[in-house]
Amino acid sequence: MKTITVDLDATPSERSYPIHIGSAILSQIELIMTHLPRKRVAIVTNTTVAPLYLERLRSALEKQDVASVPIILPDGEEYKNWQTLNLIFDALLTNRCERGTPVIALGGGVVGDLAGFAAATYLRGVPFIQYPTTLLAQVDSSVGGKTGINHPLGKNMIGAFYQPKVVVADSTILETLPERELRAGIAEVIKYGLIRDSAFLVWIEQNMTKLLARDPEVLIEAIYRSCRNKAEVVEADEHESGVRALLNLGHTFGHAIENALGYGTWLHGEAVAAGTVLAAELSRRMGMISQIDVERIRNIYVQAGLPVAAPNLGPEKYLHLMGLDKKVAGGKMRFILLQRIGEAMVHSDVPAGVLTETLLGCTA
Ligand code: NAD
Ligand code: MG
Repeated sequence: MKTITVDLDATPSERSYPIHIGSAILSQIELIMTHLPRKRVAIVTNTTVAPLYLERLRSALEKQDVASVPIILPDGEEYKNWQTLNLIFDALLTNRCERGTPVIALGGGVVGDLAGFAAATYLRGVPFIQYPTTLLAQVDSSVGGKTGINHPLGKNMIGAFYQPKVVVADSTILETLPERELRAGIAEVIKYGLIRDSAFLVWIEQNMTKLLARDPEVLIEAIYRSCRNKAEVVEADEHESGVRALLNLGHTFGHAIENALGYGTWLHGEAVAAGTVLAAELSRRMGMISQIDVERIRNIYVQAGLPVAAPNLGPEKYLHLMGLDKKVAGGKMRFILLQRIGEAMVHSDVPAGVLTETLLGCTA
């Protein structure tokens, strides 16, 4: 097992927390035991994950005399809303969960975001513990404290920064993850290499086959190096006033793709892959990286079985979805671009013409 500590304040503080990464650690309750003084927890999960892993966690807790209240939500991004959040509050209240009763998230990013927001607000905040069960959740959403739900007018529009007490990422759990979800998670792994860790990117290129085959050691290493990168970024900029924005490489284009096709048509990671190819191409046209670099980036996604061509919506539609149609007129847009492979930056002076050319040249 490997452990990373996320240090949120200048000196190690009460808010610092560990991320434990290893195989078959779901049932190692000693990893979370210090947070269970009341010997009681609530476990938020969903109808897909519950039959696979809920009993394993509950019986391990029971062996330590810890009682658990299971809260099983419907599965899907469309349930990341007020109604589902209320189901969590209903269950917490009905079961008289107290301020010292931790909320555990056992699931992917949807469950983690919902459970985290519930933990942030129930009784003005109860301890929160993450057991991420998708690759995306293990390398990205479970770390960093962003929690929340969607609003009919926008994704992730309601939420709170609320850090977990501990994250337990069990790589064995990924054995049951659908292939497409695994690949989508790899898109975020690649992102860390591109924005700040070129050595990791080389490692990913060399280990992609094993990663796709879910080789346990390679998975653990990928999760570990991703979390280390995310932890460093979050430590430097918890509330996204600076470098944390770099984690959004490919996401501006990606969100436009997800939104245009209807959320769920392309998985987030798929949209980020095609979106990053657009960002790479834009970086090249801005004189920052070479054609060879762009090809290398494209190849990594191809290796991962991810899409590299964004849907051809026409530049106007992209600009509109990116909220840039008005800004183009006003002149200011902010993009995450690649200065070189392994180094990203925020650029706020992309000429509208270059952006339009990129969109015309790179969509299929
Ligand atoms: P998800 O939570 O919808 O999970 C994907 C699918 O896999 C679901 O059907 C789920 O039930 C299933 N599943 C989960 N674990 C499984 C397992 N071990 N075996 C079999 N099936 C399993 O999707 P996701 O990609 O994990 O998360 C996406 C969400 O995360 C989005 O809502 C996004 O906004 C959010 N997110 C949040 C942050 C953050 O910082 N908080 C960062 C990135 C993404
Ligand atoms: Mg993302």
